[in-house]
Amino acid sequence: MAETYRFDVIVIGAGPAGIACACKLAKAGKKTLVIDRAKQVGGKNLTGGRVYTYALELVEPGLHKKAALERPVVREQVMVLSDTSAMSVDYYNPELAEDIPQSYTVLRGNFDDWFAAYAEQQGAVLVDGIRVDDLVIENGQVVGIRAGDDVVYADTVVAADGVNSLVAQQAGLRNQVSSHSVGVGVKETIALPAAAIERRFNLNPGQGVARTILGGTQGIIGGGFLYTNKESVSLGVVLNPDSVAEKGLRLYDVFQEFKMHPALQALLGDGETIEYGAHLVPEAGWRGVPQRLYRPGLVVVGDAAGFVVNTGTILRGIDLAILSGIAAAQAVITAAAPEAVGPAYQKELERLNVIPTMRLYAGWPEITQNPRMASTYPTMMNAMAGQMFTVSGDVPEKINTAMLRIAKQHVGIKNLLADGWKGFRAI
Ligand SMILES: Cc1cc2nc3c(=O)[nH]c(=O)nc-3n(C[C@H](O)[C@H](O)[C@H](O)COP(=O)(O)OP(=O)(O)OC[C@H]3O[C@@H](n4cnc5c(N)ncnc54)[C@H](O)[C@@H]3O)c2cc1C
Repeated sequence: MAETYRFDVIVIGAGPAGIACACKLAKAGKKTLVIDRAKQVGGKNLTGGRVYTYALELVEPGLHKKAALERPVVREQVMVLSDTSAMSVDYYNPELAEDIPQSYTVLRGNFDDWFAAYAEQQGAVLVDGIRVDDLVIENGQVVGIRAGDDVVYADTVVAADGVNSLVAQQAGLRNQVSSHSVGVGVKETIALPAAAIERRFNLNPGQGVARTILGGTQGIIGGGFLYTNKESVSLGVVLNPDSVAEKGLRLYDVFQEFKMHPALQALLGDGETIEYGAHLVPEAGWRGVPQRLYRPGLVVVGDAAGFVVNTGTILRGIDLAILSGIAAAQAVITAAAPEAVGPAYQKELERLNVIPTMRLYAGWPEITQNPRMASTYPTMMNAMAGQMFTVSGDVPEKINTAMLRIAKQHVGIKNLLADGWKGFRAI
């Protein structure tokens, strides 16, 4: 039989955006319900992944110490793959882990589970294994949600239901996800003993690496990542679905080929796969953020609002999700009347630097989605490195002549200049 309930706020989705929001609301004494369709929160969520701690600290100072995190990142690496070789940049700075470490690697299942339990401790009510099917709208105002036969009412509904937000679509705030606006992420977690991780990645006990990888995806637009966890490594790719379809390849096969690259095999070879998953990630940047992020009774946060920045070297979705969740909670807490929540949310997004950050990175998708970034440039850079590090006994070619020759062979000077100029303007 149908039942009805009432809360101050209903949060749809128990990812980082929804939970951060619920924590703040519950702490402020708001009667808060969080609903997630997954049987176990975090069970289906996927991230590379790494979390920037400043966002957790905004939920509660010192929270990073309690959170289910893996290793503080002290090595930031960029790896560029040709078919057979690899060129890497390695930035090591132990200060990154001092005091409050800048970022930690993370396993989403564990992290989301912990974060949800933490929200419950603050007083939020969490219901999992229930999918929200519909919004309840009366006189243009969102007044609740429908899940199966159950209707739950609230002054404010927070759409934190991720990249493919049906709620934001039903509310008329965004269109259906299109293949141009998302990347599809594939990730494997590979078990390795802590000592092997530390030896292979040149780490002191407990320290971690975050590595982004260009190339190695058979020319498909996108890139890869590798993160070291306590006793496993997360390896994955985020690829452009149109580019995958154009090449007529299967995502799984592209990932397997990527994983078999000799430079990666040297790091992972004997590890055992313990988890495999795929998930969409917003890739349109600022252009993918809906023009309106609220309507009476509803605000949209996190991936549902398109708040992800990807520069090819940095992927930021979780921290922006947390920030937007906090912004929504602050708006509910401070707004004088329900109709003031939306405008207050927009202001909070500015104040917490979510909108300014998205705007700043507006040009990056043009760079990361340039097909030459997936194959031509990685191959060219490896050819240049090969030239620099080869000694044969012949009189070597002058270095600038050699570099120019290789650039001409791979990309052509016109394209190089055009891409360089576009890139310079975008950043
Ligand atoms: C492969 C990959 C690697 C990534 N790596 C990183 C990284 O290293 N660092 C980083 O910061 N970001 C990373 N991201 C991005 C990051 O994962 C997201 O930006 C972040 O999870 C967004 O949080 P969210 O709470 O908005 O949405 P989600 O984490 O997607 O949570 C949405 C929740 O809503 C629930 N839900 C959906 N629909 C309904 C419904 N109808 N009813 C009830 N519940 C519903 C889902 O079950 C889910 O729990 C990565 C993403 C991918 C795919």
